[in-house]
Amino acid sequence: MKVLVINCGSSSLKYQVFDMTTETVLAKGIVERIGIDGSFLKYRRGDEDNITIEAEIPNHEVAIKLVFDALTHEAYGVLRSMDEIAAVGHRVVHAGEKYASSVVIDDDVMAALRECIDLAPLHNPPNIMGIEVAQKLMPNVKHVGVFDTAFHQTMPDYAYMYALPYEYYEKHKVRRYGFHGTSHKYVSQRAAAMLGRPIEELKIITCHLGNGASVTAVKGGKSVDTSMGFTPLEGLIMGTRSGDLDPAVVTFLQEKEGFSSEQVNNLLNKKSGVLGISGVSSDFRSLEEASDAGNERAALAMEMFAYRVRKYIGAYAAAMGGVDAIVFTAGLGENSALMREKICAGLEFLGVKIDAEKNNVRGREVDFSAADAKVRTLLVPTNEELMIARDTLALVRG
Ligand code: AMP
Repeated sequence: MKVLVINCGSSSLKYQVFDMTTETVLAKGIVERIGIDGSFLKYRRGDEDNITIEAEIPNHEVAIKLVFDALTHEAYGVLRSMDEIAAVGHRVVHAGEKYASSVVIDDDVMAALRECIDLAPLHNPPNIMGIEVAQKLMPNVKHVGVFDTAFHQTMPDYAYMYALPYEYYEKHKVRRYGFHGTSHKYVSQRAAAMLGRPIEELKIITCHLGNGASVTAVKGGKSVDTSMGFTPLEGLIMGTRSGDLDPAVVTFLQEKEGFSSEQVNNLLNKKSGVLGISGVSSDFRSLEEASDAGNERAALAMEMFAYRVRKYIGAYAAAMGGVDAIVFTAGLGENSALMREKICAGLEFLGVKIDAEKNNVRGREVDFSAADAKVRTLLVPTNEELMIARDTLALVRG
């Protein structure tokens, strides 16, 4: 059975086709600059080289049609026709409190996702548009919604509520939701498999450290707390996002600098984080270089980042009454031995002890704990697309 996975952004569209009998990727790629000059499609069959096709791509419908053309192309396609696709899985950022797992999309689901636009104004509209266009072009197959927020719907109320007047939760659904759920779910399941133990009896802390970053406490396979909140701004320090902050700073800056709410929003989301601290870059590769060359603010940014992750790990060990494994994933978590080491330094009291040699890897599954460590430290490359394809397959099989 073949499954198409779509992740639709405002000017981009990522896609992958899986053969689910073997869980292999037949082809994948991205359409970029949709509706902007210089648009193009990148396409890659299996492990072959990328093909780039430049074309005028004024909207998402044209983008998806181009993807279909590439997938069924005589010379480099992987399908005889699009009829070979049995189902489509869509990544959707926000499903509010409505869905705690993936669902087959129908009119009610679409209405629920539209209701969540206020909660994710940048993400849900393009996600919804991707579904509409794909449904129009592939009306005879099931479309499944897989939500970034769903995995965290198991958080208890005392973890997801903010200590604001209760009426704002009732009126506007202001609460913590959490994001990156598909990734946290995938890597926690892989961690249990690597440890050879049922996930139901494990306490796992998953650290998704990429440009956006979040930590989740996974107890018995369920998310019981996570560092992102009402939006993906809360929690860890990120590439360009501040993470946790005294909310009084916002009104203080508005008064002192005359910032509008839009300007503050932009400041906290786009100009803060390790970029704001270092003044160098949001990319940790550049920060490591600058820090090695003696740039003190780059070094400070990395120290702050590691410290914040370490604090969350301590907090989540307390939240779960212990921890069996800490998992690192996403761009930074998978590739930076230095950052993994920095984060783990000081967690010896918990039973964390890493093997520096085993830690010196990137991008593949490895248990890099010392033999006598009480808490396992694992590197697990994330695979959100595979998780989406698995959920899609499970739902269409009923
Ligand atoms: P993601 O959002 O998961 O794609 O992660 C992107 C981030 O991962 C980049 O901004 C980098 O900061 C980080 N990253 C990727 N490769 C490396 C590397 N080799 N060393 C350090 N950081 C890396």
